[in-house]
Parts: sequence; structure tokens; C-alpha cells
Amino acid sequence: MTSTSCQRCRAETELTIVHVADGDADPLHIRLKELPLRVCPEGHVQFVRPEFAAELLQHLIEEDEPELPAGEEKGLIIKKFMCESCHQALEPKSDHKHTFSIEIELEEIDAFGVDLTMPVYKCSACGKEQLHSLREVRKLTPAAMAHAFEDANIPPPPGVL
Ligand SMILES: [Zn+2]
Ligand SMILES: [Zn+2]
Repeated sequence: MTSTSCQRCRAETELTIVHVADGDADPLHIRLKELPLRVCPEGHVQFVRPEFAAELLQHLIEEDEPELPAGEEKGLIIKKFMCESCHQALEPKSDHKHTFSIEIELEEIDAFGVDLTMPVYKCSACGKEQLHSLREVRKLTPAAMAHAFEDANIPPPPGVL
């Protein structure tokens, strides 16, 4: 059995590209675009390598999401969110969702895209739009990603959902 054999039936797999796979963990929506996967003649789908999901999750949470505009969270019981630029309060209600498009490059894998769609909140003082907090989007990412993998016919690993 080589590393490119099907984990379920052991047949040889070949590379395939899934154009769109969507997953939700409300209010976060993740769309994976041009996602490379491997598929066997029986149609069993698997990651290009076993660590792929962990690598992607780590890349998103540690490198890409910290680049997104996001407020600062204050208060333990009643949460307040402050603008990252001018530190005034953000509007309590979001008026729309914004899609942030990220290009992901992992070692030895062709670049593919990840869209993160989240409600954005306007700063009442300077008008800058941003997420409520980085913590919120980070917390929702694993579940939304697992649903997107399900959409691409990859069963979620135990314990993720
Ligand atoms: Zn198979
Ligand atoms: Zn502001």
C-alpha cells in the first residue's frame, strides 16, 4: 500500500480538483475553491495527504485569519467589540456579510482558494468594517471546514463536529 492508495479499498487513486465545496458553522460560511483531492476508481475521496486537513486548519487559523480586520473583544458577561483602528465601539448589528478571499499555498500542493464569509460590523466613529473578533472566527473555523469536506464527500474525522 502506497501513500496514494485508497484508504478504504486500497486501489490506486488519482488527483482530482473539486471546484467548490461549501460548509457552514453559523454565522461563518467557508467555501473551498479548486481543492485538490484524490479519488479511486470506486469513487472514494480522500485528502492528498493524511495531514492535509490539519495543515489547512493551522494555516487558516494561524496565518490567514489574523490578517483579517477584526475588532477587540471586551467585557466578560456583556461583550463589547471595539474598532481595531480607533478603539471606539462597533455597531451592535451587522448590516451585511463580507467575503474574504484567501489563497492558500501548502508545501507541494498547487494553490487553492478559501472564501470566508462572516458578518462585518461598522465602527460608529471611523466607519471601518470588521469582524467582531478574531476569536469568534477562529472558533467556528474547524466545524465549517469539516462541513466543507463533507460537501466534497470526505467524511469528517471523529471528534471534529
Ligand atoms: Zn477506494
Ligand atoms: Zn473606528
